[in-house]
Amino acid sequence: MEIARVRLCIDGQWIDSADGVVREIRSPFDNGLVAQAAEATADDVEQAIAAARRAFDSGPFPHWTLEQRCALVARVADLLERDAQLIAAAESADTAKRLLEAEYDIADVIAVFRHFAALGRALHERQVDVGRPEIDSRIVYEPVGVCGLIGPWNYPLLQLAWKVAPALVAGCTFIMKPSELTPSSAAHLMRILMEAGTPDGVANLLLGAGAVVGAPLTSDPRIDLVSFTGGLATGKRIMAAAAATVKKVALELGGKNPHIIFADADLDAAIDNAITAAFLHSGQVCSAGTRLLVERAVHDQVVDAIVERARRIHLGGPADPLTETGALISEAHLVKVQKYCLDGIAEGAVLRTGGQRSTAPGLERGWFFEPTVLDNCNTRMRCVQDESFGPILTVEVFDSEAEAVALGNDTIYGLSGGVWTRDEAKAQRVAGALRHGTIWVNDYGPYRPEAEWGGFKQSGIGRELGVDGLHEYLEAKHIWRNTTPARSGWFASEGTTA
Ligand code: NAD
Repeated sequence: MEIARVRLCIDGQWIDSADGVVREIRSPFDNGLVAQAAEATADDVEQAIAAARRAFDSGPFPHWTLEQRCALVARVADLLERDAQLIAAAESADTAKRLLEAEYDIADVIAVFRHFAALGRALHERQVDVGRPEIDSRIVYEPVGVCGLIGPWNYPLLQLAWKVAPALVAGCTFIMKPSELTPSSAAHLMRILMEAGTPDGVANLLLGAGAVVGAPLTSDPRIDLVSFTGGLATGKRIMAAAAATVKKVALELGGKNPHIIFADADLDAAIDNAITAAFLHSGQVCSAGTRLLVERAVHDQVVDAIVERARRIHLGGPADPLTETGALISEAHLVKVQKYCLDGIAEGAVLRTGGQRSTAPGLERGWFFEPTVLDNCNTRMRCVQDESFGPILTVEVFDSEAEAVALGNDTIYGLSGGVWTRDEAKAQRVAGALRHGTIWVNDYGPYRPEAEWGGFKQSGIGRELGVDGLHEYLEAKHIWRNTTPARSGWFASEGTTA
């Protein structure tokens, strides 16, 4: 296989890093070398921030009309569509997710660009009726400015697309920083942005470690907004760093998502969806349904069925057509997932299946972890409270609707949740009472670019996608124009002053 060379892109130029250092990107499937990525230095970061600032303050882009910016974003969608196969292959190589899954992800990326292109065309200034005919009062929308866009490794291009597309429509300039583990698809997007006609310096690509490359984007005074998708601990650091210059901060963080099954549910569908929710992409999904809350009356039936099917999930490499889910992203992550599992058992959880690294034939060199079910869990356990970001499903039982809701909300997170019941009124009550940003009723997992996505509580700040996802990148400005200027008359008139 040809080893891809991934470079930085600053002010319209593809470059190696200032000191020539390269990071090896290795497949989580077999540890084979899949790409070599330039590792940006502090000097490269400085150049990128300066370029993005220049492009915003004095480049041609701020003079583009909204229509021109939307046309650019639509062109990017077309080019992504043309190269979808190539990009999916690159992302599948970096992440070891199966090719089909990567293809779905790239289709989602394209839909995101199309959504924001259409949404931008519908963006209008707003007239405010102040009750005085001589006053023209308008709300206009302007770009926030220069943005630092920092992404994770689990859905590398999709998570960046949620940021890049609205930033462009809004008229912002930006620096993208994908995870150091998965840089390849972002480089394809950069290439396409340039081909589509994005002016130099508007989009810039930095690659490398969070501490060296990501952190300056969160503290540099020339950056106006930082949008981050990643873990809670990093999110807290970013928020603190951004406070010094009062940057706008958009955070999409982790989740510990309750998946509630009532006894009156369509159990066949609920069980099947519970398995997908927990084990898709080996649980490396922010909205994974990793906390199963099941009504006591159906506990044994539901959990036995999940355990039996979890044992049969086919782990494999990205090109294996039989693969149902793949490897964890890295050895370090595998160690972390294993620890959550062992801690859970030490705290009293009952291991029903899985619980260890899989070294089945063909998987010995990869970071595979067996789909795991921990029964007899409670909210005091770390494996229930913390996001393991691995294929670990914890099971808790409940006896009433109120208890299900209380358990579902007993978490610092608030990203998503699911509820299964045939009782429509109960479904609505529970959906309303759960403090999470997305609730699925008798379903689990679908999201749409047209619908806002984001977290309550410590799952984040702000929303991506939908309409709000564009407004993250816009400043609302109020322009008040008096068509018949007059004296204010507040203070004493000239004739009466002493
Ligand atoms: P991470 O926090 O380790 O890293 C995310 C990004 O931040 C990477 O690009 C990294 O290099 C960078 N980074 C690290 N330290 C930084 C710093 N001090 N300053 C600036 N940037 C820094 O997260 P991850 O392991 O890549 O991703 C997994 C996490 O992402 C999970 O917690 C998951 O729930 C979350 N996630 C959330 C959503 C959502 O929509 N809410 C979506 C996908 C992933």
